[in-house]
Amino acid sequence: MAKVQTDRRKFIQYSTLGVLGLVMAGGVGISPYLAGDELRLRPPGAVEEKEFLGLCIKCGQCLQVCPYHSIELADWGKGHGIGTPYIDASIRGCYACDAVPCVLACPTGALDHSCEKAEDIAIGIAVLEFPDTCLAMSNTAIPKGFNTKMHRFTDTVQNVTQLELDLLAKLDSFAGKQCTLCADMCPIPNPLSAIAMVPDAQGGKRPEIYDGCIGCGACEDVCPTTQASIIIKPRATYALEYEKGKQS
Ligand code: SF4
Ligand code: SF4
Ligand code: SF4
Repeated sequence: MAKVQTDRRKFIQYSTLGVLGLVMAGGVGISPYLAGDELRLRPPGAVEEKEFLGLCIKCGQCLQVCPYHSIELADWGKGHGIGTPYIDASIRGCYACDAVPCVLACPTGALDHSCEKAEDIAIGIAVLEFPDTCLAMSNTAIPKGFNTKMHRFTDTVQNVTQLELDLLAKLDSFAGKQCTLCADMCPIPNPLSAIAMVPDAQGGKRPEIYDGCIGCGACEDVCPTTQASIIIKPRATYALEYEKGKQS
């Protein structure tokens, strides 16, 4: 697959440059990620982080089968786990495929095969991190052209899939409407178990997260604000994030 080959070329190139850079710099202080403890979104089914790093052989099978091109391989600038797969929901979230093909493709158990369907996924939890910018809360319509990021992404994919084209067309249809994108694009079979738009005290609406959220990052991906108002906290759970009374 062309994108995978490109990713691998980039990985080798960056790995080599990274090692050279470290040698020339005489230390490891040149990347903010190299401290090594920053969590990222891992693909569906990923086991606990330390075990994942031990089991993942960096084969790239998970990203080769992903029909949304959601998974990338970490280059040296991402610090620990160079060559391991991750998801950057600000670029492309996971869309919670039926039968979770990335997990099926994993040969080592780094992605646990007991993750068999969308509801089994537990990547993290969605949080309305920047409510002040949320268009729904200020009753602001979605501006035309809001979807440039996803169009650019799709344009750069060499083997674009029908699922990606359908996603793009669905997203385009929201231009000019009141923003409910995070809730309406949530891909799990019962999205109301994960997120709903609820009236807020100021007369707008706000997305409210429930314990069915799997942290796939689709909501972050489609959020039309410059810095997504809703983001995913990797490996966090509903209980950790919300049952402490943090939800605003
Ligand atoms: S569930 Fe589907 S969209 Fe999500 S990472 Fe796996 S293959 Fe990609
Ligand atoms: S398929 Fe499994 S072992 Fe291969 S890169 Fe993905 S997580 Fe790692
Ligand atoms: S609210 Fe829906 S789209 Fe957002 S992370 Fe949770 S499951 Fe995914």
